[in-house]
Amino acid sequence: MLNRGKRTSQNRAADLPNAPRSTNWVLGPSLLIVAVALCVLLWLGQPLFCHCGSLLFWISDAAGSHTSQHFTDPYSITHFQHGLVLCLFIGWIFEKWTASTRAVSWQLTLTVLIEAGWEVLENTPLVIDRYRTATVAVGYRGDALINSLGDIVCCILGWIVARYFGWRWTIVLFVAIEIALIIIIRDSLLLSILMLTSPVEGIREWQQGESLSASTNPTPRNPLPSCWYRLQ
Ligand SMILES: [Zn+2]
Repeated sequence: MLNRGKRTSQNRAADLPNAPRSTNWVLGPSLLIVAVALCVLLWLGQPLFCHCGSLLFWISDAAGSHTSQHFTDPYSITHFQHGLVLCLFIGWIFEKWTASTRAVSWQLTLTVLIEAGWEVLENTPLVIDRYRTATVAVGYRGDALINSLGDIVCCILGWIVARYFGWRWTIVLFVAIEIALIIIIRDSLLLSILMLTSPVEGIREWQQGESLSASTNPTPRNPLPSCWYRLQ
């Protein structure tokens, strides 16, 4: 817990009567936020799930036509990182209120609101075009609704992990994920942000080398377990 060391037995006891009610402060508003975001995505024209007609839990291909179209894929891990960062950042801003269970619940609700807002923004024509022109995601056409839902779930998981691991281990985990993603898919959360805001041509060429080899080589070097091959 971010603020575990500062919690007293008095405020821990004060949490207990609030605990069942505090769940309502997360569940109700969060479900409403997610439902509204999915409706907006539907209105923006995003499909429910992949054009291939299958609905898979995991796709290991980071640069294929099924990417961002099923429940999770390597980019879902960057949304898990959103949860890590939002937990630390929001926790840091609202630190003085974290002793209250209800305040912690609202922090999770705020995290869901920010993540759902990002999912909508990420699927607006402006940002989709930006991904296609500035990053390696040449054929990107936005997320299917099921993938946006998976991204929000991954963000919530990241928030929960950060909440229990504390800020030091959360930073270690964030850096480890960045390194692993760069090695495995030649992309990461920080690289995506960099390439979206100020693209570096050398990095783009290096990333395209991976996506080209993945599309021409029937057994891409990506070692993540794959459900993708089942579709061939
Ligand atoms: Zn598919």
